[in-house]
Amino acid sequence: SKSISKICAGQVITDLPSCVKELVENSLDSKATFIRIKLKDGGKDEIEVSDDGCGIALNDRKEVCGKHTTSKLRDFEDLYRDTGEEGNAGNSVDTFGFRGEAMNSICSLSRSVCITTKCQGESLGSQISYGRGGGVVSSSPRARSRGTTVKVEGLFEGLPVRRGVFEKQIKAQRARLFRVVQAYAITCVGVRFSVVDVDNKGKSSTKLNTGKSRSRRESVEGVMGKKFADGLVEFEVELGEEAGGGKIEGLVSKAPTGEGRGSQAREITFFSVNGRPVDLPKFQRCIGDVWREFTADGKRPAVVADLKIPNSLIDVNLAPDKREVYVGGEKGILKRLAEGVRKVWKGGDG
Ligand code: ADP
Ligand code: MG
Repeated sequence: SKSISKICAGQVITDLPSCVKELVENSLDSKATFIRIKLKDGGKDEIEVSDDGCGIALNDRKEVCGKHTTSKLRDFEDLYRDTGEEGNAGNSVDTFGFRGEAMNSICSLSRSVCITTKCQGESLGSQISYGRGGGVVSSSPRARSRGTTVKVEGLFEGLPVRRGVFEKQIKAQRARLFRVVQAYAITCVGVRFSVVDVDNKGKSSTKLNTGKSRSRRESVEGVMGKKFADGLVEFEVELGEEAGGGKIEGLVSKAPTGEGRGSQAREITFFSVNGRPVDLPKFQRCIGDVWREFTADGKRPAVVADLKIPNSLIDVNLAPDKREVYVGGEKGILKRLAEGVRKVWKGGDG
């Protein structure tokens, strides 16, 4: 029934950040190198995500917003199969999306969804409007460069209670959205991101605009600034056999008592698992606890780290909006993480 499909949709797209996250992941899956997010009136009016990716194939355009439409999942077993390649633990899921739910959900929850897209080799692209059910309302040829733009108007107008919450929490949701985009911009080395706000008088202001990075350090610098990046040192922790020979790799604040240490009033953490930005509260707490072994000055460390482990040890399906994951063998991993970070800070590295 209609209301059941809205309940399902509401589990994937719970708020403004999860909507933008799904659109950004689609852009990344399309191999975009530049992703621009434009928000009108904080996202209340309009959310637009543009990319320079591969575009949506002509034959798929009618279907992309349909129920359970995905062009990505080849075989459900792919999700839990590791490539077995050395140093490539857990890379068998190379796309963010696979459920084919996001676009359909966004349609059913919004006033309108409009996509313009063009693939390589086409002289003209298409502009297509989709209705609540995800079907095509109108379609016409449209000139543009290669890539896709998804415009969502009136998010949650299809679910008045959530629309009310959204309007009330707009500032907080807008702030969390920004953090989500920062996490992707940091994690996806080589992809440029921008965030532009357009106020209700049509005046736009750029809130984030990163260059093309070649390393994690450069992407951190592009998002958080040079001073922040300069306060960090590279670290790597081998996780051993129990974690399938995986490792944690990234940047962490210089020693708490050292020169130019990268400490802040609050912990700043960006974690990812196999290149997928996630919240890992226990990992964050672990690093904070080790930091406090060295100093009691109330400052906090920063960490930007990717956990590389076999996909068989992670469950991204725990939460429908995929912001948290379950990591198998977490206890052992945390112990190694604590040891690794302690060694960095003891060694006076920095
Ligand atoms: P999923 O990402 O799980 O496949 P979505 O509902 O997020 O499902 O997207 C449905 C389909 O729409 C995708 O599989 C893809 O084919 C297409 N699509 C959506 N956004 C883009 C984009 N920015 N570039 C190219 N294709 C896209
Ligand atoms: Mg998707």
